[in-house]
Amino acid sequence: MPEGLIVKALSGYYYVQNSEGGQPVQCRGRGIFKNRGESPLVGDRVLFSETENGEGTVEEILPRFSELIRPQIANADLAVLVFSVVRPELNLLLLDKFLVHTEHARMNALLVFTKMDRIPDDEEGESIRRVVEDARALYSSIGYEVILTSAHEGEGMDKLRQALAGHINMLAGQSGVGKSSLVNALVPGLTLATNEISTKLGRGKHTTRHVELIPLAGGGYMADTPGFSQLDFAELGIDEIGSCFREFRERASTCKFRGCTHTHEPHCAVLQAKEQGEISESRYSHYVGFMTEWKETKRRY
Ligand code: GDP
Ligand code: ZN
Repeated sequence: MPEGLIVKALSGYYYVQNSEGGQPVQCRGRGIFKNRGESPLVGDRVLFSETENGEGTVEEILPRFSELIRPQIANADLAVLVFSVVRPELNLLLLDKFLVHTEHARMNALLVFTKMDRIPDDEEGESIRRVVEDARALYSSIGYEVILTSAHEGEGMDKLRQALAGHINMLAGQSGVGKSSLVNALVPGLTLATNEISTKLGRGKHTTRHVELIPLAGGGYMADTPGFSQLDFAELGIDEIGSCFREFRERASTCKFRGCTHTHEPHCAVLQAKEQGEISESRYSHYVGFMTEWKETKRRY
């Protein structure tokens, strides 16, 4: 039975792309999915059968390794976290917050710093370059790939294409950082839809919109909707926040206490590493801030 990838879902149909390319096959889901409470998602790898009229049936959903709710997508494996270096300036607090959410979703993250061409050629520009270089060094040392780009001048775009190839990619980042400009440079003609959340209606009420996977020239796909628009910690356990910091996670097994919060405990491997300068002050202080925020979130809900 052929295997394929659901690239779009609309009005009860699933559009399944097989590995040979060509147009996706329009499929219905097997009736049994409903009975089992299963629902195929965009991003699912599936087995499908073809019917005589050129349509098909999704017969089986292959195991998922990740599943996001907003946008609803399965198996997205690379979060492309977009931050501009100026207007708005790099925001490492927000960056670490995104990283907690990508780690929690079991996605790898690629850090893309944009608008490099906008750094002025003066003293202020010098200090911006230092901030960017420090951030690049810090996050590379933790194991994240960092790419410096300019969508306007083409800097870093080949590197970015290479990093995206073969993955199911999802963009994330504040508005105005240059996500649409990147996507336009990578996939001409694609416009990014925004995954709006109605704050008036409160938590859980949001416009539902079907995400679509757009094929990239170098292989792989880009989701046409940015993700992680709602970044609170309500869905995480407090002990999970620390494990979403890669350099903490590596060390936590040598903390004296299981469930160590890395804040006040004796013989804490994370605190020791911070004191020795192996864990950065900014990452650690963001961690402490997130723990506080987590407690406040829990009080509210
Ligand atoms: P989005 O809201 O994240 O999708 O951001 P946009 O792609 O709409 O970009 C926001 C603004 O930043 C626009 O005015 C873009 O022209 C500008 N911009 C985006 N990328 C670059 C870049 O590489 N260099 C410069 N100088 N401006 C950029
Ligand atoms: Zn500890």
